[in-house]
Amino acid sequence: MSHYDVVIIGGGPIGIACGLEAKKKGLTYLIIEKGPIVNSLYNYPKNMQFFSTSERLELDNIPFISIEAKPKKSEALEYYRRIVSSNEIAIHLFEKVKSVVKVNTNFDITTDINSYTANHVVVATGFYDLPNTLNVTGEDLPKVSHYYNDPHYYANQKVAILGASNSAIDAALECWRKGAEVSLIIRGPEIGHRVKYWVRPDIINRIEEGSITAYYNSTVQEINETSIIINTSKGKTTLENDFVLALTGYKPNFDFLINMGITLSEDEKRLPQYNPETMETNIEGLYLAGVVCGGMETHKWFIENSRIHAKLIMKDIVQS
Ligand SMILES: Cc1cc2nc3c(=O)[nH]c(=O)nc-3n(C[C@H](O)[C@H](O)[C@H](O)COP(=O)(O)OP(=O)(O)OC[C@H]3O[C@@H](n4cnc5c(N)ncnc54)[C@H](O)[C@@H]3O)c2cc1C
Repeated sequence: MSHYDVVIIGGGPIGIACGLEAKKKGLTYLIIEKGPIVNSLYNYPKNMQFFSTSERLELDNIPFISIEAKPKKSEALEYYRRIVSSNEIAIHLFEKVKSVVKVNTNFDITTDINSYTANHVVVATGFYDLPNTLNVTGEDLPKVSHYYNDPHYYANQKVAILGASNSAIDAALECWRKGAEVSLIIRGPEIGHRVKYWVRPDIINRIEEGSITAYYNSTVQEINETSIIINTSKGKTTLENDFVLALTGYKPNFDFLINMGITLSEDEKRLPQYNPETMETNIEGLYLAGVVCGGMETHKWFIENSRIHAKLIMKDIVQS
């Protein structure tokens, strides 16, 4: 069984940052990723453009050159892939970590393919794998998805988009521009405040001119093969419908964290417990890195402000 100073779970931008830093510190390390390199980014919408400028997505000061100031998904995929290849980062792809158990001072890591031991473990598993579900009848129909990719797929279709955040608004505008008949179903009274400032006027104008229909203070009650029933402030309404994009946010895999022994706050934020100076959790030698640190507060951490976690962790490991 292979043994490492540190095993990093998750090959997203922050997991890769941890691998780079571990290598710089001369530690033996391995990143284990259940999908391709930067799997979450790979599953982002096809035309997605980051709200950060490229230098704010850089790892270890490795220049990120992009055509526009704010890079596209395809540029970010290539940037992180090149970091892995040109730095010969030790990463196992398409291998899923199933459990992490502390035995005396070491950790036993079991994946769906192999077993490893390590002195330290970093959990950098993000939050994009588990969508917040609606728990309504028909949510499991094939026409319903919690992930959006390509607007062409919805051309000339009746599409209901649930949500008021960037993902929902980007999808609504892109699908409408491809000829979809878009209905936006929004739980609150207005478009989300965090919607990118350069997108906000666009969606508001489309709604005011009637190109996109917005149902505020509304929720979906039921999803059927050819229609959906929504509860609006004016009562129940049935809409003809071909597809439902439920872009209602995502959450970390809390069971995975709890099974490792990590304590979560008891409130609805479910914040994992860690020391912000070292990122070490309540389990000695077990660290958190990246957006997984935010629990249900998925808007708190992103690449820009969680890159530093890699340096804090590896500094602490070297000093321990
Ligand atoms: C649409 C969208 C736009 C965004 N725009 C920006 C932006 O402009 N600027 C910015 O800074 N941030 C942005 N973010 C946020 C940022 O992209 C992500 O949050 C970022 O991916 C965080 O990196 P991470 O490494 O913490 O997590 P992730 O990238 O989610 O990586 C976690 C990795 O862990 C893997 N994994 C999970 N469980 C296991 C397991 N059991 N075994 C093995 N591997 C596992 C996953 O496959 C994944 O690859 C955006 C997010 C979204 C959704």
